[in-house]
Amino acid sequence: MSTNVIEPFSRGHAHDVRLDDTFDFLNTDDLENGFPLDRLPGLDDALAWFVRRGVIHGEGADRLRFQAAIDPLSAARDLARVRSVRGALREVADALADHRPPRPGALDTVNRALHARQVIELVPSSDGCVAVDHRHVGDPIDDALARLADPLVKELTSGQPERIRICDNDRCRWVFYDTSRTGKRRWCDMATCGNRAKAARHRARTRGSSDEPDLVSASPD
Ligand SMILES: [Zn+2]
Repeated sequence: MSTNVIEPFSRGHAHDVRLDDTFDFLNTDDLENGFPLDRLPGLDDALAWFVRRGVIHGEGADRLRFQAAIDPLSAARDLARVRSVRGALREVADALADHRPPRPGALDTVNRALHARQVIELVPSSDGCVAVDHRHVGDPIDDALARLADPLVKELTSGQPERIRICDNDRCRWVFYDTSRTGKRRWCDMATCGNRAKAARHRARTRGSSDEPDLVSASPD
C-alpha cells in the first residue's frame, strides 16, 4: 500500500512496495542452470532481504534474529511461513499467467497474509501539512508478507493483471510484468533469456533441427 499519497516523504519510514518488489520476492525461489535454488535459504537471509526492501525495520529484524538464536524451532516456523506465502503468491501469479484458477489453498494462504497488514494513518508533516505514515500492529514478518502481497492485489483490482507473465526460458521461469507495447513479451529480459532463446533457435537451425519451438514472436520492448 502506498504511503506517499499526500506527499512524497512520510514522517517515519516510507517503504513503498512496488509490484517489482513482489516479483523479486517471488523470484528468490529461483532456478540456476535449470535446478531449483532458493535465494532465501535461511531466516537470516529472508530478514536481510526484507530489510533491504524496506518491508521490515532493522530493529524488528534484529529482534527476530535474537529470538531465532534462542528458539530455533520458531525460526524454522518463521522461515516456513515466508516460503509458504511466497509459494502461494507465485501460484496466484502462475494462475494469472496461465489463465486458470489458482489452487484454493494458495488463496487461503495469501488471504491470511493480507489480513496482517499494517495500519495506515495520517500524521502532521515537517512542513506543517499532513503526511501518511503506518503503524505496525502485528508480527514484523506477517507485516512484511502482507506488504509484499499488496501490489499483486492492487494490480488485480486496478491494474493489468493480464500483463503478469512467466519467463518462457525453462531455465529461468521468473515472474515478470510485460511492459512491451504489444503485450506479447515472452522473456523476463530480452538481453539474457530472450537472446539465449534466439541463440538456441539459431543453433538448432544450423544443425538442421526442426523440433525447436517457434520463437518468432521474440521482440524487444
Ligand atoms: Zn527469464
